[in-house]
Parts: sequence; structure tokens; C-alpha cells
Amino acid sequence: MSSPPSFTRSFLDASKAQACVHCGLCLSACPTYLETGNENDSPRGRIYIMRALEEQRLALDELSTGPIDRCLGCRACEVACPSGVQYGALLEETREHIEQHHRRPLRERLWRWGIEFVFSRPVLLRMALIPARLIRAARLGWLLPRVMREALALLPPSQPATPIPVLSPAAGSPKRQVGFLRGCVMQVLFARTNAASVKLLNQSGCDVLTPPEQGCCGALFAHSGRLDAARDCARKNIATFEAQPVDAIVVNAAGCGSMLKEYGHLLKDDPAWRERAARFSEKVRDLVEELKPAKAVSARATTPLKVTYHDACHLAHAQRICTAPRDLVRAIQGVDLLELTEASMCCGSAGSYNLTEPQMAAQLQERKCAHIVATGADVVLTSNPGCLLQIQAGLERAGAGHIRVEHIADFLEREQYH
Ligand code: SF4
Ligand code: SF4
Repeated sequence: MSSPPSFTRSFLDASKAQACVHCGLCLSACPTYLETGNENDSPRGRIYIMRALEEQRLALDELSTGPIDRCLGCRACEVACPSGVQYGALLEETREHIEQHHRRPLRERLWRWGIEFVFSRPVLLRMALIPARLIRAARLGWLLPRVMREALALLPPSQPATPIPVLSPAAGSPKRQVGFLRGCVMQVLFARTNAASVKLLNQSGCDVLTPPEQGCCGALFAHSGRLDAARDCARKNIATFEAQPVDAIVVNAAGCGSMLKEYGHLLKDDPAWRERAARFSEKVRDLVEELKPAKAVSARATTPLKVTYHDACHLAHAQRICTAPRDLVRAIQGVDLLELTEASMCCGSAGSYNLTEPQMAAQLQERKCAHIVATGADVVLTSNPGCLLQIQAGLERAGAGHIRVEHIADFLEREQYH
């Protein structure tokens, strides 16, 4: 083991780290701890490691960074913690420190850089999908390295491009004007879902503005410790949406929404942007917060359906939104909403986690899909692109590809307006 490094700058907010009283009440909520039973893979163990790194009692090497890399950033521990430990903020600070001071093997650096570079640029993502789909159609995936084979297995069927106009007018006289974030992965892989989301907003009386200048929310960068890159994304989106006369900024991807709601925190040390960021974050709403169940009361499902719902971590834990999506689904007659065991436990997708930590991601995917199959549901709904891809691939692997995996917006739009 190399000797502990010497840093001149403290990276961890001491008061946040010391808020942990080591009670262990978060352990049973932590997916990685439940899978490995190893204290280092628990929130409490990781906070010990963070503090040891901060106090330079521990070297910055594979042994200390491994448990931090294996953390999903799902924030289930925050919900479980009675002491109010802000684990997500501690994790971001530690990952930034690791990113700045720890040199990963070249292959790993290139893979991580490639993921961020491609997934944050819709044009490149679209281009990357062309050879990927050809390789899959020709069944040549076995020629690829394992991480790329895993990525290939996640690819959904292609959807027709459905461009969203800058202004999508409300049905009837408008009650509100909202901005819409298209999302990098959403606009490429789930264009139909974006169109369904805008239609739902229009039907609920919103004029929807989708400014083309908007960009990546920055979540991919923030999760990997590249906070400066995430801040650049935030500034671009704040400036873009400030120029729009909107009452709210609506997002249909839980990971992006959670990031946008944290712009205020992300730019808290930047005097030029602090207040603008806080104002922006106050306006951000997930799609399910903007829709009203009453609208769906008269809706009737096309056929009687058994439906279950998987809570995306960044909706349930980071944004604490669990009731609204269930209320929307229950309001449709003929839909039987079956609760899922461990509904709010991470499916292993966690941003790009399933591409950087494929082994743990596969374990959690299997666990999630077994619970889904056990419900007997025809459809599983969720609200994040990563979860959709991860669960779809997992159900196919489990021989349960007949269970439809849908974004809640697609489901509501079809069942309400058929
Ligand atoms: S993070 Fe919270 S719940 Fe977990 S050990 Fe620390 S104080 Fe206890
Ligand atoms: S964020 Fe999720 S994986 Fe990480 S320590 Fe907390 S509960 Fe465990």
C-alpha cells in the first residue's frame, strides 16, 4: 500500500461528516451492503473511509476508492438516517477529491471519459448507436470486451425521432407556461416519451416551451466527481431558462430533475450565480408533480391491467416523491396497482454505474427483476431512462420479456387519451 498522501486543502465539510453517529440504522437500506454484507460497502463504512481520507489516515488507492466507486449514489441511506446526514453531498465532495488526486488505470480513465463525452452529447450518442445496433443485429456482440457487451445488452429498440417544437401550446386556454428539459438520453432513446410528456402537460393546461439552447443537466459529471464540468452545465441551463417566461421547469427523468433541483447547492460558492441558481432550482418540478390525478379520474385503461411501480432513486430518495406517481396510476379505472417488494431499492442503473460497476449492477438488476416477476404484473412503470433500460434488459435476461417496461408518461398518455 502506498503511504498516505499529503493534501493542503480540506475537501470534506467536517460538520456534515461528523453528523454521522455511527448508529448503523442506514445499513439495511443500502443495496450494496445488503448484497455484500461488508461494512466498507455500507454508508457508515464509507463515511469512515471519507473521514480517514480527509484526515490523511488512509492512502488514496484502489482499496480506499473501491468502496466509494461501488456506492450507487442512490441516497437511500439519507432517507433512513435519523441524524440527517447529507450523504449525497459528502459523496460528491469525496468523489471530486478522488478525481483530482487519484490516478486510475488508463483503460478505466478512457472508459469513464468516453461515457461522459458521448452520453452528454445527443448528436454523438445518436452516432454511437448506429454501429452498436448493427453489431447487435449481426449477433457480433461476443467480439466486444465484457463492459461493452453489457452496454450493448441495455440498448432498447429504436424509436422514431419526434422533435419537440419550441412552443407546444396548451389544449384550450393556457393556465400556465412551463419550460421542458429534453434530457440527453431521453431525447435520443426515448423521444416518444418526451412527446407523450409534452402532450400530458398540454392536456393539463400548460403551454410548453422547449428552448433548443438547453444542454446536459450535468448529473453524469457530478456523479463522477467532476463538479466543475457539472457547474458549467448548470450555468448554461440557468441562462437558457432565465430567458423564458416560465412558471416552472418540468423534467421527466428523475436523475436530471434531481440535478436541476440541486443547482442552488452546486453554485452556492459562486457569487455571480448563487442566487440565479437558487431561483432556477425552486422552479424545477418532476412531470408527476405537475400533473393532477383528478384529470385522470374519468380515464379508463384500454384493457384491465396489473401494473407495478419501481421508484427511481433520484425521484424517491433525492426528491422524496413517491405518492404522486402512484396517485396518477391509481386514478385510471381498470388499473390494479400492485406494490413491489423493495420498490425504492436501486435497480443497479444509477446513472452510468451499470457501465462502470457491471458486477454489482447485475446483482441488483437480478434482485429487482425477481421482485417484479413475483408481483404478476403485466406492466412495470418507472420514471428514469436508466431504470427503464436496466429493468428491460434484466427482465429479458430472466426470461420475463413479456412484462412491458414503460415510462409513466407513456402509460398515462396512452391510457388517458386513447
Ligand atoms: S449515516 Fe445516519 S443512519 Fe447511517 S450510521 Fe451515520 S448517523 Fe447512523
Ligand atoms: S448512496 Fe446508496 S449505495 Fe451509497 S451508501 Fe447510500 S444507500 Fe448505500
